Amino acid sequence: MIRLLTLFLAGVLALAAAEPPIFYLLWFDTEDYVEPASDDAALRLAAGLTSRGLRATFKIVGEKARVLEQRGRTDVLRALAAHDIGYHSEYHSLHPTPAEYLNGMGLLDGAAEFARREGRGFGDVERLFGVTPSCYGQPGNSWGPQANVMLRRWGVKVYMDDGGQVGFDQQPFWYGGLLYVFNLGPNTMRASLNDPADLPVARAKFDAAVASLRQRGGGVIQTYYHPTEWAATEFWDGVNFRHGANPERQDWKRPNLRTPESREQAYRLFFEFVDHVRATPGLKIVTARELPQYFEPRDKAAPAAVARRLATSIDAHEGFSPADLLLSLLGLPPRHVDGPLRRMASDVAEKEIPRAAFDRAKRDAAEFVTREQRLPDAVHVGARRLSLPDFAATLAGDEGGSTVAVRRGVLEIEKRIGTNAAKQYNWVIHPQGFAPEELLELARLQAWTLKPARLR
Ligand SMILES: [Zn+2]
Repeated sequence: MIRLLTLFLAGVLALAAAEPPIFYLLWFDTEDYVEPASDDAALRLAAGLTSRGLRATFKIVGEKARVLEQRGRTDVLRALAAHDIGYHSEYHSLHPTPAEYLNGMGLLDGAAEFARREGRGFGDVERLFGVTPSCYGQPGNSWGPQANVMLRRWGVKVYMDDGGQVGFDQQPFWYGGLLYVFNLGPNTMRASLNDPADLPVARAKFDAAVASLRQRGGGVIQTYYHPTEWAATEFWDGVNFRHGANPERQDWKRPNLRTPESREQAYRLFFEFVDHVRATPGLKIVTARELPQYFEPRDKAAPAAVARRLATSIDAHEGFSPADLLLSLLGLPPRHVDGPLRRMASDVAEKEIPRAAFDRAKRDAAEFVTREQRLPDAVHVGARRLSLPDFAATLAGDEGGSTVAVRRGVLEIEKRIGTNAAKQYNWVIHPQGFAPEELLELARLQAWTLKPARLR
């Protein structure tokens, strides 16, 4: 009997183990430095989750961290420190916001400007919480690819937010060397904090997302809120910094507050939703800091047969980014390198390049990548040049003869980058009509680094 029971239990465990894994991220953009009641909301959320044995990720704005210190709210700092800590920019909605100052800048000068404007708050969050923030996410949809360069240098491994500028099949992906949790479509969800009738709807949507991801072999679901949503009925920044407004500090207005009844209902709805999530069999609630360990490593060597697919399609193939595939063709070890700085056209007139000249160009490209840790904008063949995509396609199609046939690269990967900057950046804080097309162009150039993140 006991043996039968053991066999039965082993069978049940095997079935459970075979179920595709679902990872759930719960995070809070902790940003309101205008309304002190939002401090109490952060405290109550952090403590309520801790009492349930759950760890969320609180992405903290630099000025918010300093304001908590100035107000003597060590109770809030301590409660938050029981969770994972991320970073959410220096001032969030003061102008210029990140997209406002990054638009028109290149990858490297933009990264330096991001460091100049956002570095102090990053250091303050690190000092007050005693940890390097695990992740970053932009304020609103004020996103720019230059941030990736500096975040990597600061030791941040995860970009966790939502937006339409870049994505990969509504699941996490690698981009700019970071693990991105972004653009998850229906896998980003939340329950209404105002409407009790929405709670069963939100539960059903969550269950449907779990079922759908299980069919795909597992995946990631995220939910995010802002502690200020439990304190106020409107956003602290919308009432002050809307459409480019930049009032002085003494003129900042406080948002309208919830009534006590509405506040209590908001907590009840939230914790009932969370209790539904955590009751899901086989679901693991993780923080941004824990997330990378559940994915295959970012850098692995691409087989030559896969790399040769760049000849007809510059895209992510078999889980490798175009940059991974190009490094493999150049005989370089796998590692992250950034995409090119600018778009250049080919001006090679010939249809064939002599072997010796092409091999010299290839060695030159490999040396550039090793030295600069990024892909070149173009590769010279004597006085003429091949654009990066044309060089990659030509190299991938090289059959080893006495001449190499010039091929034109087809940049399929760029279809993963959002279009229509006015739509992608339509945050209420940005000036009306704000359309930073140059940020999307830089995002397309960095799409060489884009690939899906695969669960282990
Ligand atoms: Zn925010």
